[in-house]
Amino acid sequence: ATPTSIMVGTGRGAEMGVLFRKGEALQILKDARVAAVDKTGTLTDGRPALTDLVIAEGFERDEVLARIAAVEAKSEHPIARAIVEAAEADSLMLPAITNFESITGFGVAAEIEGVVVEIGADRYMDKLGLDIVPFAEAASRLGDEGKTPLYAAIDGKLAAIIAVADPIKEGTPEAIAALHALGLKVAMITGDNQRTAKAIARKLGIDEVVAEVLPEGKVEAVKALKAEHGKLAFVGDGINDAPALAEADVGIAIGTGTDIAIEAADVVLMSGSLKGVPNAIALSQGTIRNIK
Ligand code: ADP
Ligand code: MG
Repeated sequence: ATPTSIMVGTGRGAEMGVLFRKGEALQILKDARVAAVDKTGTLTDGRPALTDLVIAEGFERDEVLARIAAVEAKSEHPIARAIVEAAEADSLMLPAITNFESITGFGVAAEIEGVVVEIGADRYMDKLGLDIVPFAEAASRLGDEGKTPLYAAIDGKLAAIIAVADPIKEGTPEAIAALHALGLKVAMITGDNQRTAKAIARKLGIDEVVAEVLPEGKVEAVKALKAEHGKLAFVGDGINDAPALAEADVGIAIGTGTDIAIEAADVVLMSGSLKGVPNAIALSQGTIRNIK
């Protein structure tokens, strides 16, 4: 493409809220074979709400919720806010905590008057050596509903299974249909539970799912998808998406996302909607075609 056509294309992008930080991206995007997309905050609103709380025998609901909310109040994860909001909705008093710890990709822990409270994914409970089999059926059901199951342990005993659900973002279904119409495969990459991710992918018609990836695993997933399909655009919003945005042939950040993701990206979607992705690809195809 000529410098002029790139300038025109970049300008047209800006008009529709697609910011090309690098002119190169406009040339590469037309050849993209696969769009790999982060789930939380990219396909979904990134504002999950607590939907289910099942208490184990020997524990009391309000006390469990107050304790886990007290721990989550120190976490930045969207899941944490959902749990804190649920406790607030019930006007629960949150006890004081000490020794807060966040284990990225697993969960959080702290102490309340010397009692350890741990909350996180099934793999976190595995790591702690806790048996989650009593909640296996509930976990499968919740996952199949597209909800994220989490577990709470109090004093080393399984106390509850919790589920949060994150609504699909406005424009996501249309964006996926448009990507398919442009001939791309769509893949989801997420740290979330396998069943949950699959249920959401099924609902959205997403072709491939890479779930339960640890933050450093997103880059590996991008590499594997590139090797399998060819040119790849990765779309994400979080701090943990930055390495994958850099690894992709074209990194596309959601403009409402974190600064770190935006810094790492070649393209920024000024509106939060995923519809900017097919728009950017169509623009790339049009721009390059025009100058041939
Ligand atoms: P994602 O952004 O896809 O959720 P993360 O690596 O941030 O990926 O988290 C992966 C999983 O770790 C979450 O789905 C959740 O199960 C668990 N987790 C992380 N942080 C918390 C937290 N504050 N409370 C409970 N669970 C958490
Ligand atoms: Mg995200």
